[in-house]
Amino acid sequence: IKKVEFFGEERFLVSLRNITTEKEIQKLKEVDKIKTNFIANISHELRTPLAAIKAYTETMLNMPMTLEEIQEFLTIIQTQSERLENLLNDLLDFSQIESNTMKIVKENTDICKIVENVVKSAKQMASDYNVDIMVDCKNVTVNCDPGRMEQVLLNLVTNAIKFSDKSKEERYAKIEAIDEDDQIRLMVSDNGIGIPGDKLDKIFDKFYRVDNDLTYSIPGTGLGLAIVREIVQLHKGTIQVESEEGKGSIFTVIIPK
Ligand code: ADP
Repeated sequence: IKKVEFFGEERFLVSLRNITTEKEIQKLKEVDKIKTNFIANISHELRTPLAAIKAYTETMLNMPMTLEEIQEFLTIIQTQSERLENLLNDLLDFSQIESNTMKIVKENTDICKIVENVVKSAKQMASDYNVDIMVDCKNVTVNCDPGRMEQVLLNLVTNAIKFSDKSKEERYAKIEAIDEDDQIRLMVSDNGIGIPGDKLDKIFDKFYRVDNDLTYSIPGTGLGLAIVREIVQLHKGTIQVESEEGKGSIFTVIIPK
């Protein structure tokens, strides 16, 4: 506060200054780092499938090939194109979450059929990572958006596969669906690398990825669980995680009927 002269009169001038605390600076730095990592991750996620598509197409154009080889190469190109499509869909979903425009259309849904589709979609990845997919589902139906619910389960299962523990000989990802009268319980568990206790409340945040020696080479953008949480919340449900490093993780989704 300063005393000043204003057209011959004495006035007080009050100036306001925004004082940024050490804690706030730390938080801003953290957000900045998360953004930088996200750009790096997404560039990698775009470049890897694109490079594969380019290389395989070039080889096909320049080399004589047998029908069998052509089929093998086309399958790789198809898988990589799907990977790009999934990434774009995640980005689109993310922008819908940010603008609050994600919608769900509910219908009476056979969850065991959804689980079957998820297993089909994750089969190739599971075999690449040498992970067994186990299923326990009998007569579970609920009013939900079938496409979105499949997305939730597929996201959780691909994480269970991606973050499997290479040091274990037998690796599994298990999907269980249980009817509990007024709600259904969906559980996706694994015996993978697990999540450090102090990171458990952060993994559902957009862009967040656990960053350590075990995870640094595992691909991803950190959007999957943020999208999963949004879809579950749109169904007025809840999602929880229990995990122990080196032992594995259990994700539990509850959807009210
Ligand atoms: P992404 O898989 O693209 O990294 P997600 O939002 O799906 O992003 O997950 C956020 C983070 O949570 C992951 O990067 C990983 O560190 C951790 N995580 C998720 N699921 C598992 C799991 N089943 N086992 C171990 N860590 C997991």
